[in-house]
Amino acid sequence: MILNGKKLLAELFYAEIADLIKEYGEKPFRSSQVQQAVNKGIDPENMLSLPSDFRSRLAADYIVSGVRIDKAFTSALDGTEKYLYTLYDGNVIEGVLMKYKYGNTLCVSTQVGCRMGCLFCASTLEGCVRNLSAGEMLGQVIAANDRLSVQNSEQRVHNIVLMGSGEPLDNYDEVVRFLRLVNQREGLNISVRNISLSTCGIVPKIYTLADEGLPVTLCISLHAPNDAVRKQIMPVANAYSIPDIIKACRNYIRKMGRRVVFEYALIDGVNCSPSDAVELASLLRGMQCHVNVIPLNSVKERSLNTPSETITNRFIDVLKKEHISVTRRREMGDDIQGACGQLRRSHVGEVAGK
Ligand code: SAH
Repeated sequence: MILNGKKLLAELFYAEIADLIKEYGEKPFRSSQVQQAVNKGIDPENMLSLPSDFRSRLAADYIVSGVRIDKAFTSALDGTEKYLYTLYDGNVIEGVLMKYKYGNTLCVSTQVGCRMGCLFCASTLEGCVRNLSAGEMLGQVIAANDRLSVQNSEQRVHNIVLMGSGEPLDNYDEVVRFLRLVNQREGLNISVRNISLSTCGIVPKIYTLADEGLPVTLCISLHAPNDAVRKQIMPVANAYSIPDIIKACRNYIRKMGRRVVFEYALIDGVNCSPSDAVELASLLRGMQCHVNVIPLNSVKERSLNTPSETITNRFIDVLKKEHISVTRRREMGDDIQGACGQLRRSHVGEVAGK
């Protein structure tokens, strides 16, 4: 990716950085200095371990990622942090950092906006503005690490969920490159097993992903027990059916040896009756999978509502009775617009005076 005439160092693998150093006629040991600086998000002009003439030659051609945290909000309820990142071209994306006992999980965006059109999702309301490059995805993790390390030098991102704005499998090549980059030993060295990729179910790409040898946790935004209900809320259901998604998931489970997670947002009056739960259970029976139930975060632009606690608990109880492994996703950062796309929208709206 070329930005204002400059390229991104963050999207290069270590071997590519080594080649670059050679092209600049610099000594091989500079590669690890550059890589270490990239890992910390330091732009070339500030890579003080490099001789100043090389620094300026590199700075003339490259920036690290162009991603910076512009605003951060911390939840008083649970310490969840919400970030508004600015990109090199002024676009804005958001991220969420959730602090769990077992480590910090960062929610990463893969596109500015999204073109999938799910009715309940704020990220898609204005369509997809552009894809993010692998370097910009890595830039989000680096920026979050940087912020965490200022709070406490021991802190960093341990787990990643590709659940920010965008449809990861609609930006497949850059997402796969990101997975390999973030996993590099010389880079951030985050295990692919600590990464979840969430998709609305682009079936052909689920097959391709199963052949990459990247054991990410595949999460499917199912949100319905059958295609008729799914079509009411997710336009992608017109392209790929639930039986085809399930088949692709079974293939993924067989090839990767990992269970698949189904996400299910409960929308009042749409998908959360006891019979919906029974139907969902029979769909998933015998599959190595887990269901994550999340009561809808209502989006003010749409008239879709969160069901009552009674309806939510009843839905979960039916699944349990049917022996489906299920948990209720904790709603984190409720006070800071933790849900998908809401913060970016209110920010973009503020700027545009909407
Ligand atoms: N495009 C990917 C990742 C995006 S969002 C996907 O579809 O999976 C991550 C999850 O949040 C998805 O399961 C998405 O369906 C869900 N989601 C979006 N808006 C929501 C809302 N208002 N309430 C609850 N879950 C929501």
